[in-house]
Amino acid sequence: MRASAIAAMTPYLDQCFANPSGSHRFARRARQALDEARDLVADLCGVRPGEVIFTSCGTESDTTVLLGGSHPAAPVLQGPHSEASGLPTAPFLVCSAAEHHAVLDPVQHLGGTVVSVDASGHIDLNALSEALNVSTRVVSVMAVNNEIGRVTDLSAVAAVVRRYAPHALLHSDAVQAACWLDLGEISAAVDSLSLSAHKFGGPKGVGILTLRERCALRPLLRGGGQERDRRSGTQNVAGIVATAEALRATVDGRAVEVARVRALRDRLLNAVHRLIPEVTVTIDPELSVPGIVHLCVNGVESESLLFLLDQAGVCASAASACASGAMEPSHVLAAMGMDTAQARGALRLSLGHTTTEAEIDQAVIVLAESVGRLRMPVRS
Ligand code: PLP
Repeated sequence: MRASAIAAMTPYLDQCFANPSGSHRFARRARQALDEARDLVADLCGVRPGEVIFTSCGTESDTTVLLGGSHPAAPVLQGPHSEASGLPTAPFLVCSAAEHHAVLDPVQHLGGTVVSVDASGHIDLNALSEALNVSTRVVSVMAVNNEIGRVTDLSAVAAVVRRYAPHALLHSDAVQAACWLDLGEISAAVDSLSLSAHKFGGPKGVGILTLRERCALRPLLRGGGQERDRRSGTQNVAGIVATAEALRATVDGRAVEVARVRALRDRLLNAVHRLIPEVTVTIDPELSVPGIVHLCVNGVESESLLFLLDQAGVCASAASACASGAMEPSHVLAAMGMDTAQARGALRLSLGHTTTEAEIDQAVIVLAESVGRLRMPVRS
């Protein structure tokens, strides 16, 4: 967490721990903090305060809009809902094949349509247009892919959605975007977006969902009527105050940080090219955010590589799911058409506001040594 976010939240963990829905003086202070945090988040996201809904995580934000959101042009929300479960029925949801599981799983669970992506991980706009129709209720396309950092051209997506699915709400999972992209520009292209506080130096356990006032929402959580009846449950005031501060610090420092991390990313890629043979750089730096470097190391299993890296103090990720002991290649790489053998050597290195040049240099040395060890022939 950013130090300023920790400092901002501390008073709401002890001196002012009241429930913001109460009416006494301490409750009013908590309420005021909540209102100020909402105003700030709204401003930073380019929406109105009434369009900000605080949730518990990015997944909850995504699920809320997928299950219950609808555009004002949509005929009637209950139309496509099953009477028995109250859940929307197929095939009114559409998403891209490279979405995070927080979007992909609910869409698939509800029988929605998953649209193919091109070799760079961008949604195929022709395939998207074919998947849409007047019954499409929600289209969800991520702003930045979490495995390969690919940035989506949301204006192009919006143009296709408005043309072929005039009754659809366009949502974007922008969880990976806050550190790198202008959220106001994303908001201008879509009806709704999701953020997760711990991705930009805020606490874990706070999510943001923005939703245009003109759009309807069937709440996922019903009860005390918080968040204007759109998400019941006592708000996590301390977490929300910290989230607003973390987002403010992120947006204020973004231009400088994007340039700094881009230089670090390029330094990392150059060193990888120089020191490690047979590595495929999966990302196109021109089309990706600087915070994610994705590589495929030929002839090496990610699992073993991650183990050696971790032992040497380099925390990385394979962007793969480990199912029943076997490393399953990531659904994103599979959707991009990468063959399984190559995807088995996937490695994701993340850079952020705390990353230094010295760490980059150290990481590349450790990576080169680890790859060398794994490629060494085993003596019998
Ligand atoms: N969407 C994307 C693109 C993500 O990267 C993540 C988390 O990594 C999520 C959604 C889920 O966010 P949370 O863990 O806050 O539910």
